[in-house]
Amino acid sequence: MIRGTVVIERDICKGCELCIAACPQESLGLSSSININGYRFAELIQDNCTGCVNCALVCPDVAITVYRQPKSAIKKAV
Ligand code: SF4
Ligand code: SF4
Repeated sequence: MIRGTVVIERDICKGCELCIAACPQESLGLSSSININGYRFAELIQDNCTGCVNCALVCPDVAITVYRQPKSAIKKAV
């Protein structure tokens, strides 16, 4: 299985939870702290991301970048 990871721009995130609902791995959750705009933000809560890109595609604020690790190198997917 391809492994992946995501980087979420916490200060862009509005905490809408669309990415959390879209993740088939249940890899994402809302933070317990807030960002500069007063929103709880999405964050990776499990190390089981497959790099499927669903979360990045549904984010209305383009706050998520997905990275995949097919073999030895990590390549930017979105
Ligand atoms: S890339 Fe896919 S598996 Fe990884 S956090 Fe986003 S929706 Fe979940
Ligand atoms: S979809 Fe985007 S704005 Fe909404 S919680 Fe996820 S990262 Fe934040």
